[in-house]
Amino acid sequence: MLDAVIVGSGGAGLSAAIALREYTDNFLLITECNLGQSNTMMAQGGIQIAIGTNDSVEKHFNDSFSGGNYKNDKELLLLMVSKGIEILKWLNDLGMDFDKVDDTYDLKSCSGISEKRVLSKGTETGRAILKVLISRIKRNSIKINTKTSLKSISKKKTFFLLKTYNNGQETLMETKNVILCCGGKAKDFAKRHGLGTTNQHCSSFDFYPSLYGLNLKMRDEKSFQFHPACISLNGPLLGVPVPETLLSLGGIFLDKNGRKIADTDLKRDVLSKKIMNAIKNNIGVKDKFAYKSVYLDLSEVFDNCSQDALKPFKNFFKKLSYYGIEPKVDKIPVTPMVHYQNGGIVINTRCETSIPGIYAAGEITGGVHGTNRLMGNSLLDILVFGDFAGKTCGESIIKNTL
Ligand SMILES: Cc1cc2nc3c(=O)[nH]c(=O)nc-3n(C[C@H](O)[C@H](O)[C@H](O)COP(=O)(O)OP(=O)(O)OC[C@H]3O[C@@H](n4cnc5c(N)ncnc54)[C@H](O)[C@@H]3O)c2cc1C
Repeated sequence: MLDAVIVGSGGAGLSAAIALREYTDNFLLITECNLGQSNTMMAQGGIQIAIGTNDSVEKHFNDSFSGGNYKNDKELLLLMVSKGIEILKWLNDLGMDFDKVDDTYDLKSCSGISEKRVLSKGTETGRAILKVLISRIKRNSIKINTKTSLKSISKKKTFFLLKTYNNGQETLMETKNVILCCGGKAKDFAKRHGLGTTNQHCSSFDFYPSLYGLNLKMRDEKSFQFHPACISLNGPLLGVPVPETLLSLGGIFLDKNGRKIADTDLKRDVLSKKIMNAIKNNIGVKDKFAYKSVYLDLSEVFDNCSQDALKPFKNFFKKLSYYGIEPKVDKIPVTPMVHYQNGGIVINTRCETSIPGIYAAGEITGGVHGTNRLMGNSLLDILVFGDFAGKTCGESIIKNTL
């Protein structure tokens, strides 16, 4: 009998595994595709940590609470923002650091924040974080089953029975605890509504009916976030978002008549609505490259920003060039796409769910971000709560063996 099964190898699952390893090695991490294949891997812009001279945990809290339309679970939010510096130190200890200019963190902005607070590693921040987490996972010899998909969870008298599939083979696992870190359902929502999405393909959602069967408490389940500006070349499904740290430098959205729809610094939900309205009212753009889009004009950014300020985006610009767009001269066709699940499983500050023995962390949970997550807050969320989920589960395993 296993002490625990952790499901998912994004930032939340890997952080949970690193924390749990301090208590037991009798656990297994299962993940749908390869180790680390996840939305975390795709995270671009960065992570919010209140480290700037004029910044504070209070400001971070207030920005996120207002960003979340005041629907956030205040206790979870406060816990998350107050752990920022600790997480930065932890990542440093694991061997990762963020972009600096002259030895000082190059703090960036994004919509909805009152101080520059976003730490990034080029436009590949998620990948850089995962690299050090995976290296620690390997060093700690944590048992992993890749290409293994969770299909259902059922509760027996003293344990949980997990039905999983590995290469088409059904496998049953008996475990005393489960930590769910499977990420969000944005891909599923997009598929059901015929929409484009920014999310990766390595997720499946067949286990949800079994969670409802267990009466696992959920919240804000219908609240999904659209990323307002996703490249919509060659149909709706390319799904590459324009990094919000780039949008924070300026730019405007234009309709097909060249009239301004909005500036780039509005909150994600507000901006997405404005762009969707333009498309609905037929003033959006539709040509051989663009799919139901509007134009993003970044000329102001290129006119006003130094080479140094644009350096972190060089890989993103390269990607655009690959698709035949030169952002310095061309307007970029963009459209809102389903990006993030705001709601999800209800947890407390110890990542316990309404069912004892089931823990959850990361995008699969609800409450931290209310009904509109600010960019950069998810990477902080998954590291803070992934760690808590592993620790809480570990403490309960020790308690129950004494
Ligand atoms: C393109 C993009 C850019 C982003 N940029 C940023 C950013 O700059 N800053 C920021 O804060 N946030 C950003 N986000 C959001 C952020 O990356 C995610 O919300 C966060 O990484 C989620 O982490 P997670 O560990 O909860 O889930 P994920 O990273 O999605 O990991 C979920 C894991 O569970 C596995 N899994 C899923 N279903 C099953 C199953 N049935 N059985 C077994 N395994 C399963 C998946 O394969 C995966 O390994 C971005 C998201 C995207 C898509």
